[in-house]
Amino acid sequence: MTKPDLKYILLFLAILIPGCNFEKKTAEKMSQTVPIFPLGEKIISNNFTGTVWLEMLVDNDTLYHTSIGNVTFEPGARTNWHKHPGGQVLLVTDGKGFYQEKGKPAQIIKKGDVVKIPPFVEHWHGAAPDNRLTHVAISLNLENGGVEWLLPVTDEEYKSAW
Ligand code: MN
Repeated sequence: MTKPDLKYILLFLAILIPGCNFEKKTAEKMSQTVPIFPLGEKIISNNFTGTVWLEMLVDNDTLYHTSIGNVTFEPGARTNWHKHPGGQVLLVTDGKGFYQEKGKPAQIIKKGDVVKIPPFVEHWHGAAPDNRLTHVAISLNLENGGVEWLLPVTDEEYKSAW
């Protein structure tokens, strides 16, 4: 190998390596801004505080006894306190927020977290004050009954979460 050849190879690598890094960084940035599932429709219900969006992904039926929805909470938005007779699993796909069981401190939840909620445990979930939260909510064993809605999470209760 002559010296000029080596020079061209090094020049080629100098261009190629930062280029790969740039593509990876762009992909990471995209994954935070492009939603996996559609935002859906605004939920019009007294069982939530603030603006919450729902896209149903799987409707309950007699074979699976499960419903799966993509839920997006705007900053400050949250569910009321509630219980699931068949339990629920949350897959957090974007943003940051809270999950709290009655009588326990609130937990911060963020993109990539999985939350398992046992049957009949009173709880709420929602966004942080300065962040959206998106999670896939999997309601399980619906033959045992649907969600039991309770009181709203007051501003005082919400503020004590952070
Ligand atoms: Mn729940």
